[in-house]
Amino acid sequence: MIIKPRIRGFICTTAHPEGCARHVQEQIDWIRGQRPVRGPKRVLVIGASTGYGLASRIAASFGAGADTIGVFFEKPASGVRTATAGWYNTVAFEKAARAAGYVAESVNGDAFSDALKAQTVELIGKTLQKLDLVIYSLASPRRTHPRTGERFSGVIKPVGAPYCNKTVDVQTGAVSHVTIDPATEEEIRHSAAVMGGEDWAMWTDALDGAGVLAEGFRTIAYSYIGPELTRPIYREGTIGKAKDHLEATAQELDARLRQRRGGRALVSVNKAVVTQSSAAIPVVPLYISVLYKVMKDRGLHEGCIEQIYRLFSDRLYAGTPPALDGAGRIRMDEFELQNDVQAQVQSIWEEIRTDNLETVSDIRGYREEFLKLFGFGAPGINYDVDVDPAVV
Ligand code: NAD
Repeated sequence: MIIKPRIRGFICTTAHPEGCARHVQEQIDWIRGQRPVRGPKRVLVIGASTGYGLASRIAASFGAGADTIGVFFEKPASGVRTATAGWYNTVAFEKAARAAGYVAESVNGDAFSDALKAQTVELIGKTLQKLDLVIYSLASPRRTHPRTGERFSGVIKPVGAPYCNKTVDVQTGAVSHVTIDPATEEEIRHSAAVMGGEDWAMWTDALDGAGVLAEGFRTIAYSYIGPELTRPIYREGTIGKAKDHLEATAQELDARLRQRRGGRALVSVNKAVVTQSSAAIPVVPLYISVLYKVMKDRGLHEGCIEQIYRLFSDRLYAGTPPALDGAGRIRMDEFELQNDVQAQVQSIWEEIRTDNLETVSDIRGYREEFLKLFGFGAPGINYDVDVDPAVV
């Protein structure tokens, strides 16, 4: 099959196996070039196939020498459809990790279900036995509650009042204004049920109940705060309410685990990066295009792998307990939220239009990163050549 990008709105419905493998290898090579982390040896990553979760899995194995189990929801190729990018990423990761002598096992299915949690516990019993670190990096638009069967659909909307701001059609480069009506109470509840902390707590309980958490283990979930300009759609919107719930869950789990096993449950607030999930949030792709320009110009740019390496090396496994902010969170977003960075983002934001988009922002970098998520645009890969999409 000759595989080209097929972009529909903010997703690409095709993925290229060799390009995805190249992207994974780039991250592995980058990590191998860093100082090794004296860190965890047995790691479970929930949401391990793309974005921050994939970077966490790569950093765990190739940065700290850990055996890993990855949980995710991805589809293999079938008929004329390619597999999803996360499928190809995982095939490439497993191959590289096993070749380097690490255990790399995966569980593909609905992480919100009890059945998948049980399957993962069974696999831990057969392989890693105990866990030193559990990363919770799920991003999903929907969830079926495992006990009540209620189906929740998350929305990305402001709360209380409509939100109007600039946005970009990444493909055409048209900058326009978008107005998003506020969420209903029901939508707020649904969004918190999908992206809040309940499922993370259920995972932690399932793992603790099965006796697979090692003494002094850690579990980390990822959160985001972001700048003033996205505040109504992100941190004070439906997704922010869900993150509030996730962060409150961290406090509860942390208090419980510290007593029980000397464990820790923490939230890491990461910076904005191009992923399949962030591409779906209105306004955010334009914000990231401007942010990347400013941070690259200042030599402060980081993608998923650089952020997660720094999280491991400077915060989680630096030899001292990680510094926390006033709300008890690890902050990896300090460069993004630096005053001078945000002041420059704000001033570009005020002047950005369709006709100056290419010069005042890094929309080109955004597009490249977006295509890269699906394995496209890798140098040295001939995208006009037939490839077998059925990689397993
Ligand atoms: P992503 O879309 O790249 O990854 C999501 C992962 O979740 C994938 O591995 C996917 O397979 C898995 N997944 C989704 N639904 C699932 C299900 N039902 N069962 C099993 N697996 C499922 O997302 P990301 O941007 O890396 O986000 C990961 C976390 O990082 C989220 O909590 C997000 O809020 C947070 N975060 C993201 C950013 C950003 O800018 N992207 C910034 C800060 C924090």
